[in-house]
This record gives sequence, C-alpha cells and structure tokens, in this order.
Amino acid sequence: MLLLVFLVVSLFSSVITGCGQAVKTKEPVSEETIRETEIAESAVVEPLPAVEKTAASQPPHPPQVVGFDAAQVMSHVSYLADTIGPREEATAGEAQAAQYIQDRLTEYGYSPVQQVVPVPAAGGNSLNVIASLPGGQKPEYKIVVGAHMDTKSKSGPSPGANDNATGCAVVLELARVLSSNRRNVPTVEFVFFGGEEVAPGGGQDDHHFGSRQYVAGLTPEAKSSIRGMVSVDMVGFGPSFLVRNMKKAPQTLVNLLLECGKARGLSYLGDTGTFGLSDHEPFERAGIPSAWIEYRNDERIHGPGDTSAHIDPSKVDNTGQFLQNFFEEHLTPERLGSLL
Ligand SMILES: [Zn+2]
Repeated sequence: MLLLVFLVVSLFSSVITGCGQAVKTKEPVSEETIRETEIAESAVVEPLPAVEKTAASQPPHPPQVVGFDAAQVMSHVSYLADTIGPREEATAGEAQAAQYIQDRLTEYGYSPVQQVVPVPAAGGNSLNVIASLPGGQKPEYKIVVGAHMDTKSKSGPSPGANDNATGCAVVLELARVLSSNRRNVPTVEFVFFGGEEVAPGGGQDDHHFGSRQYVAGLTPEAKSSIRGMVSVDMVGFGPSFLVRNMKKAPQTLVNLLLECGKARGLSYLGDTGTFGLSDHEPFERAGIPSAWIEYRNDERIHGPGDTSAHIDPSKVDNTGQFLQNFFEEHLTPERLGSLL
C-alpha cells in the first residue's frame, strides 16, 4: 500500500501546467507503474488500437524518464552529428541517419515506412521516414511534425548538429513521449525528411525534395485530413525562440503556437525568403496551416563548427517540452477543428 502511495505521488509530481513551464520529475517510474496506470485507464476509457510491437523493438537503452528527456535528445544529436557526421542528401550518411531514426521509432512501438525521394541534382535518391501515431482526439484530422535529416557542407564538411540533428532528435523524443499518451493527442504523422538542403550545384529553389514529394504525393482526401504542419529545424543554439512561416496559408496554427509558447519566450518572425527556408514551405503553398520552429541565429551551420559541443541542451529541452505541452494540453479537439 505504501508502495502504491509512493508511485501515485511520483506520477503526479510530473505536473503539466497548461501552456506555461512544465514541471517534470527526473525520478524514474517503473514500467510496472506505467502498465498499472494504463490498465487503470483502460477500465474507464475504450482503449485505442495498440501500436504494433515486435520482438525486434526491445530498446537497448530503455527510456527511464516519463516526459520529455533532454538527455535522450542529446544522445540522438551526438549519434547523428558525431558518430555518423555529414549527411548530405542522397549519400550513405543520410541513409545511415534514416536507418538510425527508423530503428528508434521501431523501438518506441511504431511501424515506420520509408519513401524514396529522387534528387536528380544530387544524382541519387534521398528518402523520407514516416511514422504515424493514431490519436484519440478527432482522429480524422492529422498534424504532420517534421524535421530534415540531411546536412549541407558549405565552408567544409558539416556534422550538422544544430542543422538539423537537433530537430530530428526533438521529433524522435516527441514520438516517444506522445505515444504513451495518445488518447489525449491528435493523430500525428512524424516525418523525417531527406533532401531539404539545396542540392550540390543546384539553384536556390533546388531543395525541399523530401517534403515537396510528400505533399505532391498526397491524395485529395489525405491532403484535406492534414490540418497543420510543424517543421522543427535548428533548435539548439541562439538567443531567439521563434515560430516562422511565409504567410501563404491560414495563420491559425501559428497563432495557437504563439498563445501556447508565450511563457517560453516564443515569438513570430516571417520567413521572407522567396523559396522558403524549411520543410513547411510546400505544405504552406498547399494551403495547410504551417509553422517552422527555430532558434536563431547560428553562424556555425553548414560548416565544420556545427558540432554537438556547441548545442545548448536547455534549448532543445525548451522546444521539446513546448511541443509536448502543445499537443497534450493546448491543441484541444475544438482548437484542432478550428485550424482550417
Ligand atoms: Zn535546416
């Protein structure tokens, strides 16, 4: 009985305070506790279809923390940037990153799929990695959360820690934490895009190959089910925490994000580039409310100095906790229904 009281107190010490700062415990909560809670919940709530799990999905490093875990995120950043290194589009480095991400998603219980993305300017194929979380809130609507896996080396080989191992790592961790609370979140499609950067030798508009192909391949029904898109791109360095877009589609999602992110210092900056500067671009041009979450400015991107050593874990943590909070607390079914 005493143990039960302790477990209940442990769970409730992870308090989400609306869209303000989330207070979370670093105390590990046992898998038994999580299972007990799930069983207790399923007694009163109709359970959703289980996310398929296989024997191969046993994690080598089981996550210990309930809620967004910055240490877990930094280990992804380090693997992508320091172990794999440069991940130019349509190269073996990008394919290795895709495999790493696919393996983690499988560990978390997803059934990720790969989409081949031809990049003629680079003379090969990139790929997108896609994983879906069937949500419990208005499951007919979907939010796409994306991050690009590839890097660009302009002033020497770039390990691409900030641009964009940070975005990939935050989205991966978000996929982990939201999967344990899917009754309270909308349907989310996590997409790790290949070929975001301008292709070597290409013009300024020869980019966003993965996201453009994803949008171009949508059936009319699939497109109308997507009510919003969030691109997470460069979230580990710089003083300004921003939500950006090109103002080519309804600003509804940006407005909700700004409302929710106020307490975390989020502000708006227009993405004024003619061609768009991240993977929200094709979604926005297709009329889907879209947003790019970024910290700026980081002069080390696209060069050898973009290593994991210069990433500030508190910034990736702030980004991830903000997005977790947004999906679990702020994006109510009513607000989700009002996006388009
Ligand atoms: Zn980027």
